Amino acid sequence: MNLHEYQAKQLFKDYGIPVLPWRIVETVDEAETAANELGCPVIVKAQVHAGGRGKAGGVKFAATAEDAVQYASDMLGTRMATNQTGPKGVPIDKVMITPAADIAHEYYVSIVMDGDEGAPAIIATREGGVEIEQVAEEQPEKIVRIIGDPLLGLLPYKARDAALALGFPPPLIRPATALISNAYQLFIDNDCSLVEINPLIESEDGKIIALDAKVGIEDDALFRHPGLRDLHDPAQMDPLEREASEFDLAYVKLEGGRVGCMVNGAGLAMATMDITKWAGAEPANFLDIGGSADLERIEHAFKIIVSDPDVEIILVNLFAGIARSDVVATGIINASKEVGSKKPVVAAMRGTNAEEGLQLLDESDIDVTPAPDMASAAEILRDKLATMSRST
Ligand code: GDP
Ligand code: MG
Repeated sequence: MNLHEYQAKQLFKDYGIPVLPWRIVETVDEAETAANELGCPVIVKAQVHAGGRGKAGGVKFAATAEDAVQYASDMLGTRMATNQTGPKGVPIDKVMITPAADIAHEYYVSIVMDGDEGAPAIIATREGGVEIEQVAEEQPEKIVRIIGDPLLGLLPYKARDAALALGFPPPLIRPATALISNAYQLFIDNDCSLVEINPLIESEDGKIIALDAKVGIEDDALFRHPGLRDLHDPAQMDPLEREASEFDLAYVKLEGGRVGCMVNGAGLAMATMDITKWAGAEPANFLDIGGSADLERIEHAFKIIVSDPDVEIILVNLFAGIARSDVVATGIINASKEVGSKKPVVAAMRGTNAEEGLQLLDESDIDVTPAPDMASAAEILRDKLATMSRST
């Protein structure tokens, strides 16, 4: 789960990470009041779950309150597409007004979980402000990487090493060390998947300030953090992904494909994508109904898959253990009826009640082709897609 910048900055504040004051506004009147209260110049920042706002016009320098009002009115109620969103972008419902800082230098500091090390890693560079991917590619030697310890945490000397490696001027080594330690503690305490400060600035008057704040929380740990869960902003999610998450279904939208994939289990999802590609096609999405999906969840799952306009054909690949194939088939039939879907289905079902499931599908109005196994499903898929391409 991603947090908005203003929510992340509140966490930063709680952990003693220096940030500038801010106001969150939803109307232009509030923007004017905020700009006057904070004192101009201010920066007007779109609150969306995506970085790259600066380049997309979502971070504006306002010399006067009138400018701030203008920028807020340009942003509020619109959608913003950045290099980190799809082309449809995400809605701007809230805007941050914050005093403009005078920047002497921009640094980059982030903490992520390093899978190879099995521990959190601090990834940082003196070359902040620009995209980290670009620094990693062009000047990999400029990236500082420090690994924490799952049991001991981040020992103080390591935080200090990181601050020294980033080349902070001597008076800022101590506050930078504290900032890195605090960010690490924030990461651990809140089960984060990401803490990113880009830019972390050294201001003209010699202070370090987190000018931007990005925090992601591990979804699987949210049950331990009800306060954080309340910060969830579903409006920032793709509508189908949002519906899937409400029903606890793992749905992933993929770009450029024609095949909707309904599976049970993450491993089977990967295998299904492999056979889809083997059949010469690309998956448009996949939806994992999990092990013990009940009828209602399966109906929602199938509706989500067929509502994706990119989906022309659905590949159902089921290995029923606890899940029952007949229940899955009934769910698919009910959902198809309800949304009036005519999209063809290729269904491979094995395991519990597989024959009953396939029979139910066969007797229904759905254009369904049963497949005895995965390889045949792929071949049927290939043939079907070829005829569909010819007929369009
Ligand atoms: P992002 O593009 O979504 O990552 O948004 P940021 O909050 O990082 O802002 C983008 C860029 O705008 C920063 O890298 C800064 O260069 C600039 N910027 C943001 N806030 C300020 C500010 O207070 N003063 C100045 N001079 N520049 C700022
Ligand atoms: Mg940024």
